[in-house]
Amino acid sequence: MSFIASRLSAIAPAETMEMAARAAALRRQGLNVISLSQGEPDFDTPEHIQQAAVRAMHDGRTRYTEAAGVLPLREAVAARMLADHGLHYSPDDVSITAGAKQAIFNAFFATLNPDDEVVVPAPCWVSYPEIVKLTGGSPVVVECRREAGFKLTPAQLESSITPRTRWLMLNSPSNPTGAVYSRAELAALGEVLRRHPQVWVLTDDIYGKLVYGSESFANILEVLPELQPRTLVINGVSKVYCMTGWRIGYAVGPRELVKAMTLVQGQSTNNANAIAQFAAVEALTGDQSCVETFRAAFRERRDFIVGALRKVPGLEVDVPEGAFYVYVSCRALMGRRTPSGLMLATDRDFVRYLLDEAQVAVVSGTGFLHSPYFRVSYAAGLDQLGEAARRIAGAVESLS
Ligand code: PLP
Repeated sequence: MSFIASRLSAIAPAETMEMAARAAALRRQGLNVISLSQGEPDFDTPEHIQQAAVRAMHDGRTRYTEAAGVLPLREAVAARMLADHGLHYSPDDVSITAGAKQAIFNAFFATLNPDDEVVVPAPCWVSYPEIVKLTGGSPVVVECRREAGFKLTPAQLESSITPRTRWLMLNSPSNPTGAVYSRAELAALGEVLRRHPQVWVLTDDIYGKLVYGSESFANILEVLPELQPRTLVINGVSKVYCMTGWRIGYAVGPRELVKAMTLVQGQSTNNANAIAQFAAVEALTGDQSCVETFRAAFRERRDFIVGALRKVPGLEVDVPEGAFYVYVSCRALMGRRTPSGLMLATDRDFVRYLLDEAQVAVVSGTGFLHSPYFRVSYAAGLDQLGEAARRIAGAVESLS
């Protein structure tokens, strides 16, 4: 019998991390690898946020905090919910976590009984189905078609709901596709949810400020305020303020759920890093001009990489409306052969070929439950993106 718990038997490691590790191994061999596999900005955390952390250390903010997070940060989150979305919350409706990832984990750990179902529209972030499984639930993955902009349709939602459904996961803008739900699309999903009052909504808004199209980002509660008693909003400072390593996320929602999540946190990590919590207060309440600077840079990079990849015969690229990813179809390349004679049967074969032969790390669509695609993170400088696109074009050209 294995020493490892059986609950881990169905859990897959994050493909994004696997690719990053493979890329690092090749780098150690002296190869010049361009990594477009990780979902994190290449910019440094803005100076005023770093300084807030230094001040917090000097002020002795170096001890345990309340499990739910320090009051100034919970107040800052509640204030942002009002300023950004017109939604009223008290600091008691907020739980501060070690990244948005832990907020999602705590929410499912606090609510899922064995075999409870969570509807997960795919392509989706690698961790959603795994966190559902890890916390004892069953992910019900619904494949959203490219023709529907990779978005869940009301008919798909209706047919995926069963008496065991506890949650619908929403992620707009989406990792990996960059798809953004319009207000009308959210309203249409809301019509279905109205008929199923037992289904709660977990909306992961972590890329909400990184939107580039004409339609601005809308949280589902702006469109359907009546869902507030059964909606949990997840967000954090990782992506928008370039703070992935600081590990601060948050959940905002019905108090009873937030209390249950705080209980989970209190008996696991206790609290998110105290110093990072004070840095996050500065991120959310301080000068916001950095957000527009980052958004403008990502938009320029998006336009650049979409243009470059569209020139590669065999790749199909839609323009993503938000986040910092492009989800590229490599369907036309399936069945072709690499110079060493390997037949490309899956998108995984293709991304391995790109890494081994062109030293460009991207993540296969398999990891996001929608193939044959690959995800390019354009959270990298234009020169790196240009060189990566040149290498990808060369590798595709070498296929026979
Ligand atoms: N949600 C989505 C959709 C993500 O892409 C990520 C990170 O890649 C996270 C949540 C996790 O964010 P954090 O760094 O706050 O844990």
